[in-house]
Amino acid sequence: MSESYDVIIIGSGIGGVAAGALLAHSGYKTLILEKNRLVGGRCSSYEKDGFIVDLGVHLFGVGDKGSLGDICRSVGMPNAIDWVTVDQPILQVGNKTEKYSRANMMGTVPEEESGNLGRLFMEIVQISEEEIESLWYVPLKDWISRFTTHPQVHLFFNMICGQYFCVGSAEASTTEFIRCFREVLTAKSSAYPRGGCVSIPKAYLAAVEKYGGRCITRAPVKKVIVDNNAAAGVRLEDGTEFRAPLIVANADIKSTVSDLVGEEHFPSDYVDRVKALTWSLHVIGLKVALNEKITDHQLVLYRPHGDGDGSDIEDKFYQAKLPDRVGGMITAPTNYDPSLAPPGHQMIFFGTACPAKADWKKWERVLLNSFYSVYPDAKGKVLWHRLDTPGIINAFAGETGNVIGVAQTVNQIHQLRPSVVSPLKGLYFASGEAGGHGIGTELAADSARELFRVLTKK
Ligand SMILES: Cc1cc2nc3c(=O)[nH]c(=O)nc-3n(C[C@H](O)[C@H](O)[C@H](O)COP(=O)(O)OP(=O)(O)OC[C@H]3O[C@@H](n4cnc5c(N)ncnc54)[C@H](O)[C@@H]3O)c2cc1C
Repeated sequence: MSESYDVIIIGSGIGGVAAGALLAHSGYKTLILEKNRLVGGRCSSYEKDGFIVDLGVHLFGVGDKGSLGDICRSVGMPNAIDWVTVDQPILQVGNKTEKYSRANMMGTVPEEESGNLGRLFMEIVQISEEEIESLWYVPLKDWISRFTTHPQVHLFFNMICGQYFCVGSAEASTTEFIRCFREVLTAKSSAYPRGGCVSIPKAYLAAVEKYGGRCITRAPVKKVIVDNNAAAGVRLEDGTEFRAPLIVANADIKSTVSDLVGEEHFPSDYVDRVKALTWSLHVIGLKVALNEKITDHQLVLYRPHGDGDGSDIEDKFYQAKLPDRVGGMITAPTNYDPSLAPPGHQMIFFGTACPAKADWKKWERVLLNSFYSVYPDAKGKVLWHRLDTPGIINAFAGETGNVIGVAQTVNQIHQLRPSVVSPLKGLYFASGEAGGHGIGTELAADSARELFRVLTKK
């Protein structure tokens, strides 16, 4: 006899464990199955030589004040994640370092442009809900061009857009951008969790267990069992079966439809639509372990030079025309939580957008060069460095190792986004690939909240 549950969740990424926590708290007998030894999917962390190293994520847009914190509050565990708010982000362009602030950003454009940029900021803050709703399918770049065509302004918004959604401003949805930008601006609570990124899925799993659910790791699901045209259970690679009337896929939507379930169980137009979905771009992460602390900065946004409008970034993504230095987001997790490294040591991450496949040896040289441009004092203090490439992320969490999931582009946003409800009875999604709103992990957590509202009609 196979074990029975109310709900089985395939995958322990943020969307999966968030859905698990909410449903277990509501009385659903919940089982989460994770193929890996480690939980968390792209929001996981691993140990290396006494350092806790995050696989992907480095920063959480609105920290406790957004979906990630709401989940803890909803399950009666408001303090389950111990957030450390970002103190003062730094903007470094070339060798010039200053606070990352609106005033400093305004100072980088010529005087005759500052009026346009001011109007643009004002519009983002004051635009009515009705007007925001009319901009879902307008590319951000086009909307910004209504205010200014100045390359410097486009460069900054392209950079922010890349950090939020890992797509360029020529494709990103204006509404999704404005909503996220306003949330980050008003919440002022971008943060990082003590214990490293994996402490977020672990907090949700603690809720799953507290309310009687369980998670099994090293349990790859091979097949979703379909009985009488409805999802009814799952079969693992080792043949073990579990039954439930509700199956939630946190695993990649494309392979769920084509491999785990089988295309024959879906209408053909749905299969075509899922096949045509595109992922967000990829990020390569240089992780540097140092034998002493070299910086107090928690977060640095780096650009090697101030020229151009950011379209060179897209050339870099697509054509791999690598310059000798690249810009990116640099974080020092040990400046939020020193216990993530042996005493007195430091861990620094340098993340930047990259193609899915490339000559990673070249990228390694360029990333190290860029890292030392920002931190020349690191010379002679590096214990080791490693690259987490899209290939590594793909092996861990699938989806070609992209950053977000289904890209938040104008043709895949809002009503054009896959729904958390699939056309197959009993099969649902909770991940960065269906429904939801927000930045990265917050999008996946919001997808779980959306699914919870659908299932419980709350
Ligand atoms: C390099 C990088 C940097 C990032 N930086 C940030 C950042 O700074 N801030 C931010 O908010 N977000 C960031 N993100 C994005 C964020 O990590 C993701 O958006 C989010 O974690 C995705 O969650 P998910 O619910 O879609 O699950 P996923 O992470 O996609 O996890 C899916 C899970 O399902 C499991 N699974 C798949 N198939 C099966 C199967 N057959 N059986 C069992 N289990 C299965 C996988 O092993 C995995 O654990 C970053 C991502 C990357 C890659």
